[in-house]
Amino acid sequence: MIFFTMLIVLFVIIVIAYPFFSNNPKPERVLEDIEDDKTILVKQKEYSYTAIKELEFDYNMGKISEDDFQNLRKRYKAEAINAILKLESEQNTKRSPSSYCTECGQKFKKDLRFCTNCGKPNKL
Ligand SMILES: [Zn+2]
Repeated sequence: MIFFTMLIVLFVIIVIAYPFFSNNPKPERVLEDIEDDKTILVKQKEYSYTAIKELEFDYNMGKISEDDFQNLRKRYKAEAINAILKLESEQNTKRSPSSYCTECGQKFKKDLRFCTNCGKPNKL
């Protein structure tokens, strides 16, 4: 009988706890699927900006030394710039398959230097 009671208690616990376990990991997994390189880079950029702001705040509060402030700010800035550059290059590669000749409207790849239809140089 005790075993049966425990089983019911266990069942109730599972039913109560199920939404917490089932709902939480699920959206995270979906989010991970959606989260492509771009999202990660945007987050990295935002994180770097936030870090710089916090750093400036800490420096103004006198929490960190001038040297630490300069070094860390340089590092965070480099991270932000790195993310921005990667984002830009990704946007460029994404744009490439749908490039059109400005002269005749012929669709061509970005890496081609001249239009395959009219021979106009590719500005991209
Ligand atoms: Zn053309």
